[in-house]
Amino acid sequence: MARRPLIAGNWKMNGLKQAGLSLATELGERLKAAAPDAGFDMLVCPPATLIDAVSTAVSGTGLLVGGQDCHARSNGAHTGDIAPEMLADLGCSHVLLGHSERRADHGETSDEVAEKALKAVDAGLVPVICVGETEAEKDAGRTLEVLGDQVSRSVPDGLGAKLFVLAYEPVWAIGTGRTPTATEANDIHGALRKMLEQKVGDAETARILYGGSVKPSNAAEFLSSEHIDGALVGGASLKADDFWAIAQVCAGQN
Ligand code: PEP
Repeated sequence: MARRPLIAGNWKMNGLKQAGLSLATELGERLKAAAPDAGFDMLVCPPATLIDAVSTAVSGTGLLVGGQDCHARSNGAHTGDIAPEMLADLGCSHVLLGHSERRADHGETSDEVAEKALKAVDAGLVPVICVGETEAEKDAGRTLEVLGDQVSRSVPDGLGAKLFVLAYEPVWAIGTGRTPTATEANDIHGALRKMLEQKVGDAETARILYGGSVKPSNAAEFLSSEHIDGALVGGASLKADDFWAIAQVCAGQN
């Protein structure tokens, strides 16, 4: 079944106003010029400080905007946190949840990720739920066991397959320039799809992104694989040419 590719950029804690706006504006213009159908969905997740300005700048271009995290409550005494409703209010359509950097830096657990995912869906957002094994877990041959646990706890039971996106991001591949082969990644995505079938059903329609050192030179291998429905891109999403080149693989133009 054909699943529409999603090319998502995670800007992490990068970008002051001028640079962020010019990056988003450039991408928005390219996407608009590719209308009526570029052949993929494109999402940028700027730091929270830039969401409002980016969202306004790309309005009407088709470029989607997302947050990098949200709280599991709508409001209250949670200093420094952002409610999913606040992201939606700024025009966000998506929110990254459970990125390995949040799991490592903020001790986020899979159970918390599932709670946030449900609240995000309630607020009208599509959660991009991130899972991935560490290098030690891979070396110990525990990849599928770890992913099974993360999927089972991070994805809310019975959540419709179209209401969320899953992102497989091996922790050892993030920002390192190292990647699994496309075949290895595709096999893991196939296994993740089976896990989703048990968890939420209708997994053939679920979008599963690959993330970890995706760049223009390796994007085609990953994005042409049967079970890989797009990419979650960190470093290479900070350059309009690189991010656009990755997306162009899906348009069949490279
Ligand atoms: C990420 O942070 O989600 C990521 C995949 O980063 P990079 O592309 O830089 O490896």
